[in-house]
Amino acid sequence: MTVCEICGSQEFSVIATEIREGPGVISRCGKCGLVIQDITRNRDELQRYYNEEYQKTNSLVVGREQTPMEHFEDRIKTMDNIMEKLRPYLKAGMSILEVGSGSGELLHLIKPLVKSVTGIEMHKGFVDFMNSELGIEAYAQDVNLIDFGGRKFDLIISIMTMDHLPNPAETLLTMKRLLSEDGKMYIELPNREEALNYFLPEPNRGRFNKFFWHRAHYFYFTRETLEKLMVKIGLACEISCRHEYTLFNFLNWYFAGNPQKSFVQATMGNSFFPGESVFETEMNGMFEEMEGRFHKILAHTFRGDTLCCVARY
Ligand SMILES: [Zn+2]
Repeated sequence: MTVCEICGSQEFSVIATEIREGPGVISRCGKCGLVIQDITRNRDELQRYYNEEYQKTNSLVVGREQTPMEHFEDRIKTMDNIMEKLRPYLKAGMSILEVGSGSGELLHLIKPLVKSVTGIEMHKGFVDFMNSELGIEAYAQDVNLIDFGGRKFDLIISIMTMDHLPNPAETLLTMKRLLSEDGKMYIELPNREEALNYFLPEPNRGRFNKFFWHRAHYFYFTRETLEKLMVKIGLACEISCRHEYTLFNFLNWYFAGNPQKSFVQATMGNSFFPGESVFETEMNGMFEEMEGRFHKILAHTFRGDTLCCVARY
C-alpha cells in the first residue's frame, strides 16, 4: 500500500497511465495533493539505474549517451539561470555541498567563489570525472549513508534531484542535519503546474503531459506540496519560480507537439532565423524582447517549469 510521503494518507487516485517511456501509473494524494509515480526500486536497483541506464535514455542529446566530459561541457553552458538565483547566497568563507551534482558543472562555477565545494552523485563515472578532472571532492554514495564526521555545510544545493529519490523526506532531514546553524538550502524541482501542462491546445497538451511524466521521477511537486514537505521537515522556506526553456521551445510544443533534440538548444537557442539580413536581424530582435517578457510572465504566475526553494531553520 502506498503511503503519502507528506501526509501519510493512503488515498490515491490515478491521474495518468501513460508516461514518456510507455505504460506507467501516476497518482495524486487525495488529502495533500502530492503527485507520485508508483515505482519500486531498492537502493541497488537505483544505483544500477543511474549508472547503467539513465544516461542512455536521458542524456542532454536525444538518442546519444554522452561521456562525462561531453555532459559537463553541455550542461555548464546552461548554468546562468541557476547561478543568478544562487549568487546572493554565496560568500567567500562558505563550504558548499551539492546533492545530485551531475558531472560537477555547477560546483565548478561556484568553486572559485567559496572556501570549499563537495559533490554527491549516484553516477560513478561523473564522480570519477569530478575527482580527477575538476579536482572536486565527490562521493558516489547515498547522502543518507555518508559519515561526514560532524562536518557541517553553509549552503546545501540540490538541483532537480529530490524528485528522483524514493525518500525525499529522509534525504531532506539528512541535509538539514548537515546544515550549519545559519546555513541555507537551495532546492530546484520541476513544477507540476508549469504552463505547458495546462495551457497548450490539444492534442499537444496531451503529448506534453505524457512527456512530462518520466520514468526517473518518483514525485511531482507544486508550490503548495513543496511548502508542505518543508514544513514537515521543520524548515522555513521561500519558493519562487523560473522557466528554464525558451519561448522557441514553448512555441515548438504549441505548434509541433514534440520536444527539441538538444537540451542546450531547447534552453539557450532563441534565435528564429540563422542569417544576418536586416529582416532576420530585426525578427530575431523582436523575439529576443519577447523572451524576457515570456520568462517574467511564467515566473510571476508560477507557471514556469522550475520551483526554486530557499530553506533555513
Ligand atoms: Zn498526502
